Amino acid sequence: MPLIGEDPTNINEAESIKILRYAIDQGVNYLDLGYPYDISQHERLTRLISRALQDGYRQQIKLAASLPSFLISSSLDFDRYLNEQLKWLQTDRIDFYLLAGLNRETWPRLQELDALSWAEGALSDGRIGRLGFSFHDHFQVLRDILEAYDNWALCQFQYSYMDVDHLPGVSGLKYAAERGLAVVITEPLRGGRLTKEPPESVAKVWASTPQKRTLSEWGLRWVWNHPEVSTVVSDMSTMEQVVANVALADSAEPDSLTVQEEVVISQVREAYRKLSPIPCTYCRACMPCPQGIDVPRIFELYNDAIMYDDMETARSIYRMEQHNIDSCNECGACVDACGKEIAIMDWLKKLSALAFG
Ligand code: SF4
Ligand code: SF4
Repeated sequence: MPLIGEDPTNINEAESIKILRYAIDQGVNYLDLGYPYDISQHERLTRLISRALQDGYRQQIKLAASLPSFLISSSLDFDRYLNEQLKWLQTDRIDFYLLAGLNRETWPRLQELDALSWAEGALSDGRIGRLGFSFHDHFQVLRDILEAYDNWALCQFQYSYMDVDHLPGVSGLKYAAERGLAVVITEPLRGGRLTKEPPESVAKVWASTPQKRTLSEWGLRWVWNHPEVSTVVSDMSTMEQVVANVALADSAEPDSLTVQEEVVISQVREAYRKLSPIPCTYCRACMPCPQGIDVPRIFELYNDAIMYDDMETARSIYRMEQHNIDSCNECGACVDACGKEIAIMDWLKKLSALAFG
């Protein structure tokens, strides 16, 4: 069943509680508090959810919360974040706790701080029910993380029909499921960008389909079509969206899309990809940057901005993830490492001028 996500800004508390309780009444049973980019907003949202879960609703769902790996600077931070979240939720146990934002840079850092030993302690004392992680990197990195620990219960990553072959793509999905992990999918509609009015080339493909479905239905059905997917987290902000998605979830089955429907979706994918301006494959061979610049992620944000005609979302994610292109000192290391011979420094200058800096 889908998770209800909430935008932490401009929340109407009464309406949010009504929506959450409606979703739980309809069978939604997994609630993710989201990634705490901004701790004060996270506290506000977490306290609101705790109020929504009174009157017996807490017992009907599994709660998931995240440890913000990019904010961790010492092993003392592990207990500090978990204990704060427990306090805000007015609970003594979080069902699923995720080491959030794991990738080839954050994972070694958490290992150095012995995050897994700390997590084992929190599992033993009951503050955490099961341990998982959220992830944004390539399949090989996912495999290393999975093989480093036998007690992962779940992993969570972004997956939509635009993410079939990267970060970590269908191979990551299948590998995690084969190892017995529950796989939680986020961003099945790419933060709503797959439901916007599509560009002309994409609209032509959709127009060729005989089925009359909303773009949201196409996107969600495609994800639910994978039997390896345990649950899907989709941000929703109105009762209307929740009612529609709950009804869809009830009717969606794995392996139910026809070959023709799969072909249409692959044509849509190709039509979007042709709009992508930077030929970056997000292979991350150019990383790490001595100045801490995440070149592939910044290129991904910009390519998405152009493909989905949504520069504002890209800028806001750029700020939220605290990138800083302008700290580039033009050492050229990334250019030397890039097998696609992308003029990385020229692109960074261009993106800085476009207010990514
Ligand atoms: S040129 Fe800039 S982005 Fe590339 S590695 Fe050097 S500092 Fe990092
Ligand atoms: S090495 Fe080149 S293709 Fe690979 S992520 Fe970096 S910029 Fe993109």
